[in-house]
Amino acid sequence: MTFITRFAPSPTGPLHLGHAYSALLAFDRARRANGTFLLRIEDIDQTRARPEWEQQIYDDLIWLGITWDAAPVRQSEHVKLYEECLVTLWEKGFLYPCSCTRRDIVAAANAPQEGTELVYGPDGLIYPGTCRPNDGPVNPVMPKGQVLRLNMRRALDALSEQEPFSFYEDGAPREDMPGRVRFTSEELITAVGDIVLSRKDFPGSYHLSVVLDDAAQGITHVIRGEDLFDATKIHVFLQRLLGLPTPKYTHHQLIRDERGKRLAKRCDARAIATYRSEGASPEDIRAMVGL
Ligand code: GLU
Repeated sequence: MTFITRFAPSPTGPLHLGHAYSALLAFDRARRANGTFLLRIEDIDQTRARPEWEQQIYDDLIWLGITWDAAPVRQSEHVKLYEECLVTLWEKGFLYPCSCTRRDIVAAANAPQEGTELVYGPDGLIYPGTCRPNDGPVNPVMPKGQVLRLNMRRALDALSEQEPFSFYEDGAPREDMPGRVRFTSEELITAVGDIVLSRKDFPGSYHLSVVLDDAAQGITHVIRGEDLFDATKIHVFLQRLLGLPTPKYTHHQLIRDERGKRLAKRCDARAIATYRSEGASPEDIRAMVGL
């Protein structure tokens, strides 16, 4: 069986124990399976990405004993891939520009006619639909430099085979009983909604770029934290919409501090670089994360 996996950090801060766990888990599995381990730098947030963090990622991984089997790819260099996909979705009438600020979304979601509870999905607040156009001709030219949202209902309606959406999971959420996780289009409408597929400052969003890059890199197994379990439903849906294969998924447990809080990017205290400077060995790091 082909086994191609990846580690996909964002160069927006130091790698910490949680990243080390994720990277080591994926790397070890790839080596055991005689497979391929790839590295992808997820730098679409150009306001926060820094070359020095990217360099630190390479240094920390090499120090941990991790090697990758092809040159690392950078999402900032895949603009063309994302743009082409956005244009296709635009021409099908699946996207619309949105000028709402976060504050607008909270206010609209709070409005009495929309119900009183704020509903959060894997992509943040469920978009209340303020900018969603009613049926009608779309501008043939996709606007640039604007947020573009996916009209979820319209996209779902266009899929010839709607149900069931599913993916194979063998990580923490289904450890005792690995198997298929299923979800419905209704869930996508109510619990996900009209997600952002293109940012104002970058022609793409996390969900779009991750799906296109996993396919472009031929990823067969995605190994990542369980905080992304719900986002996987978005990714599996986008794979169906775009005619791309769905990899197998392992969502692993998160590494937490003594108080049970998950480690944050800003958490320098748990940074690999800090442990290194204090004289820890790669074996110590492995032991700390239970590997
Ligand atoms: N870039 C994401 C992060 O650093 C990981 C995305 C993924 O594994 O799909 O959290």
